[in-house]
Amino acid sequence: MYNPKSPIATEFIDDEEIRDTLRYAEENKDNLELVNRLIDKTDELKGLTHREAAVLLACEDKDALERIFAQATKIKQEFYGNRIVMFAPLYLSNYCVNGCTYCPYHKKNGHIARKKLTQDEIRREVIALQDMGHKRLALETGEEPCQQSNRRRIRRVSKPSIPSNIKMAQSAVSTSISLPQQWKITAN
Ligand code: SF4
Repeated sequence: MYNPKSPIATEFIDDEEIRDTLRYAEENKDNLELVNRLIDKTDELKGLTHREAAVLLACEDKDALERIFAQATKIKQEFYGNRIVMFAPLYLSNYCVNGCTYCPYHKKNGHIARKKLTQDEIRREVIALQDMGHKRLALETGEEPCQQSNRRRIRRVSKPSIPSNIKMAQSAVSTSISLPQQWKITAN
């Protein structure tokens, strides 16, 4: 049963919901009344549901696409201005029990060296990145327990992670880091 607030992977990544969403987008991508209503809705700067976003992504109408691009530019300017926000990736470990074939870290790849950073190595890497001026880190790991890192001048830590790693990732974020983010890349 689809539940976007659930910490359980099979509930917030629901195959049936993904397929229904793609079907809904396909059925509605030429419904220009709906498409324009959704574009108007983005003016509220409160986001769209995944189904609404899917409709706009599927839309191929030239005029609607121009509106979507214009609106995307406007919203980007509203939030970020002309800034480009960059994250420094920090790979904590490339051990992984999964088999995503697009990824070199997948379990069956016997051609790469496997490495998990020690606490001291993480500390050195974080300090080096910080001294280079980075304020945002993207912590990268495979599906393995992650290590911890924190440093006062780092403002943001982003962690692509599996649900079971959420607690570990949260513990990796010190209170001096104001904006922890976490996401899970998934492929269907
Ligand atoms: S879970 Fe992540 S690290 Fe592991 S194989 Fe998939 S993409 Fe690569």
